[in-house]
Amino acid sequence: MSTSRRVLIVGGVAGGASCAARLRRLDESVEIAVFDRGPYVSFANCGLPYYVGNVIADERTLLVASRETFRERFNVEVHTETEVTAIDRSARTISVRDVRTGTSRVEHYDVLVLSPGAAPIRPPLPGVDLPGVFAVRNIPDSRRIRSWIADRRATTAVVVGGGFIGLEMVENLIHRELSVAILEKLPQVMPPLDPEVAVPLMEHLAAKGVHLHLGDGLARIEQRDGGGLVVVSESGARLPADLVILAIGVRPETTLATDSGLQIGPRGGIVVDAQMRTSDPNIWAVGDVVEVHDVLTGQETVLPLAGPANRQGRVAAEAIAGRKTNFRGVQATAVVGVLGLTVASTGASEKGLRRAGIANFEKVYLHPGHHAAYYPGARPIHLKLLFSVPDGRILGAQAVGLEGVEKRIDVIATAIQFNGTVHDLAEAELCYAPQFGAAKDPVNLAGMLAENVLNGDMPVADWLEMDTTGALLLDVREPDEFVGGHVPNAINLPLSQLRHRYGELPKDRDIWICCGVGQRGYYATRFLAQHGYRSWNLSGGYATYLAFKAAKDSSGFRT
Ligand SMILES: Cc1cc2nc3c(=O)[nH]c(=O)nc-3n(C[C@H](O)[C@H](O)[C@H](O)COP(=O)(O)OP(=O)(O)OC[C@H]3O[C@@H](n4cnc5c(N)ncnc54)[C@H](O)[C@@H]3O)c2cc1C
Repeated sequence: MSTSRRVLIVGGVAGGASCAARLRRLDESVEIAVFDRGPYVSFANCGLPYYVGNVIADERTLLVASRETFRERFNVEVHTETEVTAIDRSARTISVRDVRTGTSRVEHYDVLVLSPGAAPIRPPLPGVDLPGVFAVRNIPDSRRIRSWIADRRATTAVVVGGGFIGLEMVENLIHRELSVAILEKLPQVMPPLDPEVAVPLMEHLAAKGVHLHLGDGLARIEQRDGGGLVVVSESGARLPADLVILAIGVRPETTLATDSGLQIGPRGGIVVDAQMRTSDPNIWAVGDVVEVHDVLTGQETVLPLAGPANRQGRVAAEAIAGRKTNFRGVQATAVVGVLGLTVASTGASEKGLRRAGIANFEKVYLHPGHHAAYYPGARPIHLKLLFSVPDGRILGAQAVGLEGVEKRIDVIATAIQFNGTVHDLAEAELCYAPQFGAAKDPVNLAGMLAENVLNGDMPVADWLEMDTTGALLLDVREPDEFVGGHVPNAINLPLSQLRHRYGELPKDRDIWICCGVGQRGYYATRFLAQHGYRSWNLSGGYATYLAFKAAKDSSGFRT
C-alpha cells in the first residue's frame, strides 16, 4: 500500500481541476485522484450556451483537458462517471459508485476536496420534468438541447429566468433562428443589476424580437395536443414553445457535505475559512458549493462564477501543500454578452448596498462614448458608479453598451481590489488613441464626477425623489431638445442663455437641473452655485431619467 498522502477531489471541472493541477505543481509526492459523476472533466461549462447556438460547432473544443492529459501531464488519476455518494469523516473514506455498472467501493483519503458545483434549480411545479424542458449544466445537457432543436425542427422557445445563463441561452437560441420569449419573475432581467441599469438591456432584447414577460413567474408547463409545450405563467399567460430552458438559478450542491455534518452557512453553501478549509480540518471545499466573503458588503454570499472557483481551487491546493495563501473574498465581477450588447458589473449594486444596510454612499451616472466622439463609430456606455461617502472608496459599478464596456468595468474592478477610491479613478492613467478611448476615459470621467460630488462642486439630486421634491426642475437643453421630451413639470432655460437670464430663477428654492446626459447640467449647477443659487444636478440627465421612468413603469423599484 502506498504511504504517500492521498488527496481525493470530488468534481473535476473548474475548482476541482484547478486544485488538482496546482497541487501537482507544488507537490510531486502526493497521490491525487479526481472523481466526477459526469463523462468529462475540465470542460468549459461557460461555453455550453455557445455550443447550443452552434457558435462553437465542435464539441471537442469544450474539453479543456482529458483524463489522459491529467494522467500524463500531472500524474492525476481521473475517475469519470464515478459518483461520490457518501463521506465517512471519522474513517476518512468516501463511498464511490460506478455510474455505468452500479458497483460501489470505498476509497481512503488523507485530504478531501469538495468541488461538486451547484445544481440548476428545478422548482417543484407541474410539467418541469416533461420532455423538452431542459436545464444547462454540462455537455450532455447541451447535446440533448441541440438534438431536440434539430430533431423537432424547433422554432419557438421559452427561457424561464432572465439571469446570466438565461440570457446567454436566449442569444444562442436566436442564433439558431428560434423565436424566444423570456419569463422572469422579477420586473427586470439580470437581477444583479439595479433596475434602471437593466433598462437599455431590456430595450435591446425587445428590439431584437425577444418577447419579455417580466414580473411574472412560472406556474406550470403543459404538453400541447399534437406536440409541443405551453408555459403557463402565474398571471395565466400561455406561452407556446417547442422547448423550454429552465434558468432560474443554481443551488450549491451540498448533499455530501450536509449528510456528513459539515457546517453549512445561512446562504446554503459550505462554510470555509480563508484557505478554503471546511469545519473538518481534513476537508477543503471550493467553487459554487461554498459561501464566500463579499469584500464590499462584508457579508457572506454564494457566487457561482468560474473565476472565483478557479482561484479557490488554487488557494486550496496551496493550503494543502502547506502554503499560507488566502482567498481574499469576492466582489462579483461579471459580464454577459447579449445579442451584441455587453452588460458588466463589479462590486455592490445600489440595492445590494441597501439590503446590507449600508447607507453612506452616493452614485453618479454617465453616458460617455466608448471612444473619442470625433472618431467615427463612438457608442455610448451607460455607466453607474457607487462610492462611499465621505472617503470615496469605490463600492461598485455597472455598465451597459455595445463597445468597450467590459474594459471599463475591469479597470474599476481592479481599482476596487486595491481598495481604490474615486480619486484613483480620476487619476488613472489609461491608454488612449481616438479609436480606443478618450483623453478623459469614461473611467476617469466617472471618477471626476464622483470627486465633484464628494467635494461639493456638484451636489446630485436623487432621481427616485423626483415625484416628491419641492425643487424647481430646470432643463438646460436647447428648446428643440426640450420639446422632444422632458422631465414632467420642468421649465426650460437653455445653458446657452443662462448667463443672461439666470436672474429669472428663484434663490429661495432648490433647483434640480437636467440636461441630456448630465454634462450641461453640471456646468449650469456650477454657474448657479457661484451666483448664490441652491443648485443640484440630476446625474446622467434625461437619458438616466428615461431609464428610471421605464424601470418604475415596470415596477422595477419594488425589487
Ligand atoms: C451554462 C453555464 C454557463 C456559464 N457561464 C459562465 C461564464 O460565462 N462566466 C463565469 O464566470 N461563470 C460561468 N458559469 C459558472 C461556472 O461554470 C461555475 O461557476 C464553475 O464551473 C463552478 O466550478 P465548480 O468547480 O464549483 O463546479 P463545476 O464546474 O460545476 O463542477 C462540478 C463537477 O462536480 C461533479 N459532481 C457533483 N457532485 C458530484 C459527486 N457527488 N460525485 C462526483 N462528481 C460530482 C459534477 O458532475 C461537475 O462535473 C457558467 C455555468 C453554466 C452552467
